[in-house]
Amino acid sequence: SVVVRDVSLNFGSVEVLKSLNLEVGRGEFLVLLGPSGCGKSTLLNCIAGLLDVSQGQIFINERNVTWDEPKDRGIGMVFQSYALYPQMTVEGNLSFGLKNARLPKDEIATRIARAAEILQIEPLLKRKPLALSGGQRQRVAIGRALVRDVDVFLFDEPLSNLDAKLRSELRVEIKRLHQKLENTMIYVTHDQIEAMTLADRIAVMRGGIIQQLDTPQAIYSRPVNRFVAGFIGSPG
Ligand code: ATP
Ligand code: MG
Repeated sequence: SVVVRDVSLNFGSVEVLKSLNLEVGRGEFLVLLGPSGCGKSTLLNCIAGLLDVSQGQIFINERNVTWDEPKDRGIGMVFQSYALYPQMTVEGNLSFGLKNARLPKDEIATRIARAAEILQIEPLLKRKPLALSGGQRQRVAIGRALVRDVDVFLFDEPLSNLDAKLRSELRVEIKRLHQKLENTMIYVTHDQIEAMTLADRIAVMRGGIIQQLDTPQAIYSRPVNRFVAGFIGSPG
């Protein structure tokens, strides 16, 4: 589970997160929706430990991780821009964090083989990222989160750089992955279809707070205000 309690974050004098509260259950798929600049990436970065909160606390599986290093939080993160190491092969990208964590070689090999099978990237392991398509790169980026064997995944618009066909293919795969791993997922997207098909619950965010948090059906049929109605595309 992920619990964000009263978290504020300021960039200079601008308050980007405003005493934000959010609870995501263990194994839940939460989709975070909201306009550009409302603080979605900032929130994920706080949960991942890439940004320090100005105030408030963050709990992962009931453990207070507010001041823990990113690597100690038990989180896998996938970025929109893939963030792969261009000079390393796919295999190198997948094993990098595990080698740093001093995992035994055979354990690393087992985890990579499993992730490569799930994501169907076995034939790509010896290639470098520049020799991959956008969809293949994104699979590798997901693989890098997968091999860490964590149970909380944060996805920041992972499919937004892909064309419509690839997007729907990977959407189905991410859904399948979640059903298989039963991991806790926070998934940022702008795509209504992704939100409606992937989410157990949707959080609609605006101006640094969560405006509504409910099932896709409930948000669609009973939006709390016009903004949410407009954003979710419901008649309102
Ligand atoms: P998008 O949908 O465009 O990705 P977002 O909801 O992810 O938007 P954030 O990236 O979280 O938005 O940014 C929230 C606000 O914080 C924006 O106004 C942004 O300009 C500002 N911001 C983000 N990072 C920094 C930073 N390092 N320094 C100063 N301001 C920042
Ligand atoms: Mg963002």
